[in-house]
Amino acid sequence: MFPSWQKCTVVFFWVLTLCFAGTAGYAQTARHVVVIDAAHGGDDAGVLGVDGAAEKDVTLAVALALQKELSTGGGLEVLLTRNTDRTLSLEERKKFIQKASPALVLSLHANAGFGKIATGFELYYPGFAKARAANKAAPAAGTPDNRHLNDTVKLARLVQKNLDSLFPRQGRGLREAGIPLAEGLAAPVLVMEMGFLTNADGKKKLTSGKTQAEIAAALAKSIRGFF
Ligand SMILES: [Zn+2]
Repeated sequence: MFPSWQKCTVVFFWVLTLCFAGTAGYAQTARHVVVIDAAHGGDDAGVLGVDGAAEKDVTLAVALALQKELSTGGGLEVLLTRNTDRTLSLEERKKFIQKASPALVLSLHANAGFGKIATGFELYYPGFAKARAANKAAPAAGTPDNRHLNDTVKLARLVQKNLDSLFPRQGRGLREAGIPLAEGLAAPVLVMEMGFLTNADGKKKLTSGKTQAEIAAALAKSIRGFF
């Protein structure tokens, strides 16, 4: 038999243990996985802009800056499809995303324009009609459902809002498109064309560390706002 003060101590530690276990469990469930996809890489340079600026370098720089930005504050686990200049196929990217089963996927690109005057950023989400048709044809294939599409649009609106304060009146809108990366994935996938490398101003901005950090900060704010 324990004397009663010992009993109290045992009960106290038992309750304390339960509390910590509860907190740890909660922290685990509250941790959201976000995948940032730096499009292109390695042999695939993507768009080549003014002075040979390569899309693959811009997407990687912003992805790394965004990961750094989101790593502070906790609550998010941020994974990059690539964190170096390496070739990565669409299938490899999809496999990586599937394994991570993220709450959000943001795929970063940079644009090439018709003529040198095209400017601004664009956001793309997988089409509703397409997803519905795909769901009908193969319901078990993990095609994006309406919940994922709603999440994508929710994130897109936040990105639009937060980037508008960085690039006023440069938003070229939110568009529905066929997104190969999203096909067959049960996750919200938003594709962002951050701007045009084919005009001098766009190239200057997208290759500047300062602007890359500003874009990353605006995207981080959007992702935090999403959760
Ligand atoms: Zn691209």
